[in-house]
Amino acid sequence: MNTTPISIFWFRRDLRLSDNAGLYHALRSGLPVVPVFIFDTSILEGLEDKQDKRVHFIHNALAAMQAKLEAAGSTMHVLLGTPLDCIKQLTAVYHVAAVYTNHDYEPYAMTRDRGIRDFLEGKQIAFHTYKDQVIFEKDEVVKDNKEPYTVFTPYSRKWKEKLNAFYLKPYPTEKYHHHFYQQPARPLFSLQDIGFKSAPPGTLPAQLDEEIARHYDTTRDFPAVAGTTRLGVHLRFGTVSIRRLAARAQELNGTLLNELIWREFYMMILWQFPHVVNGSFKPAYDHIKWRNNEQEFALWCAGQTGYPIVDAGMRELNETGFMHNRVRMIVASFLTKHLLIDWRWGEAYFAEKLLDYDLSANNGNWQWAAGCGCDAAPYFRVFNPYLQTQKFDSELKYIRRWVPEYEQLTYVRPIVEHTVARERCLKVYKAGLER
Ligand SMILES: Cc1cc2nc3c(=O)[nH]c(=O)nc-3n(C[C@H](O)[C@H](O)[C@H](O)COP(=O)(O)OP(=O)(O)OC[C@H]3O[C@@H](n4cnc5c(N)ncnc54)[C@H](O)[C@@H]3O)c2cc1C
Repeated sequence: MNTTPISIFWFRRDLRLSDNAGLYHALRSGLPVVPVFIFDTSILEGLEDKQDKRVHFIHNALAAMQAKLEAAGSTMHVLLGTPLDCIKQLTAVYHVAAVYTNHDYEPYAMTRDRGIRDFLEGKQIAFHTYKDQVIFEKDEVVKDNKEPYTVFTPYSRKWKEKLNAFYLKPYPTEKYHHHFYQQPARPLFSLQDIGFKSAPPGTLPAQLDEEIARHYDTTRDFPAVAGTTRLGVHLRFGTVSIRRLAARAQELNGTLLNELIWREFYMMILWQFPHVVNGSFKPAYDHIKWRNNEQEFALWCAGQTGYPIVDAGMRELNETGFMHNRVRMIVASFLTKHLLIDWRWGEAYFAEKLLDYDLSANNGNWQWAAGCGCDAAPYFRVFNPYLQTQKFDSELKYIRRWVPEYEQLTYVRPIVEHTVARERCLKVYKAGLER
């Protein structure tokens, strides 16, 4: 065992060396810091697609950090296993005085972290955790009576009232990079070593495009236009800092800042109301009698419903791991309302495919679309895919790109007629809610 006392910094959803709260505190603590990443086998084993683009994305981000660490005479330990086993292994190799990391609010992660904390406490090793992936977490933005908000607008108002320069200040992490533990480089696992194949996630801007941000409020709803930031995956894995991004959004476009607040709203909801992971935020909606037709679900997944805007969205998702927000809303409404398929089926499909998949945002938005979430669209508002197309893809550029055959006879006929589906939906929802 190496006898020099060290601290560990454990990277999770914060794959960056700059403006990283937990890493900053670790590096400032005085002890040399060993950076660590764990490929969690309990997560990897659950991924059916061994060409998962997200694993590739993480691997790229680790390689970029590793190159910088090696240039600074240090190296990252990348381990494969369950987090508890890996942390145990590290305590057998190093004289670990403390483990630092950033908060993660998902139920699985919180249980995992409790187990790690118990183990470390038993060994008299400190476990320090910090807020990093949001501006305001947990119960930092609550009503005056301390109850959680369940409606977005008053939440966002309070969020903005509370915001000041302190919360947006970057952590000057680079200033302390010389405190990384110096040791020879350790080669990174290859994707093959962890049972995956290469699946490049495409070109993803790692920085805010300020031109896009400036016009965000006018361009964000049009799927054929490059009018959104495409930073979702970077926010998911922490390859951008929310503090820097929120600061720029505040200066450039209030609508963009609002979307970042939606992200925090759903993270707060998940933390305050963990029952949403399995059930409706509004339990009455759990009485809806979903039709759950497996064939129709398969057609929806494959982008073969006969509704061009729905099919375009699903094909974009299947091919790229991304779908434009406006189209996500349309396909989610179509699945839950036109086809009366349980929102959890759609949620699970998105979780498998989306590069920017995030439990809180995915769950919150699916519940919003199905009408069962907090501050959700009322159930009787059923998106009309044709009107949505007229409004948001009037020149059919998006549809032509993803469904080139849509004007030909070979294109599938609609699997359900809009007016019939709408009426059926209203009847079934009403019956479920009146129980
Ligand atoms: C059914 C459905 C499922 C969704 N699943 C996810 C998901 O798994 N992960 C995810 O990050 N977003 C999800 N969203 C929200 C939204 O569609 C994406 O955040 C957005 O399309 C990502 O593209 P962008 O980075 O260009 O976003 P931009 O429009 O540029 O927005 C900037 C950032 O704000 C946040 N944001 C924007 N809109 C929302 C929103 N409605 N809710 C929460 N955060 C938001 C995201 O972090 C996003 O990256 C979902 C939306 C719907 C309707």
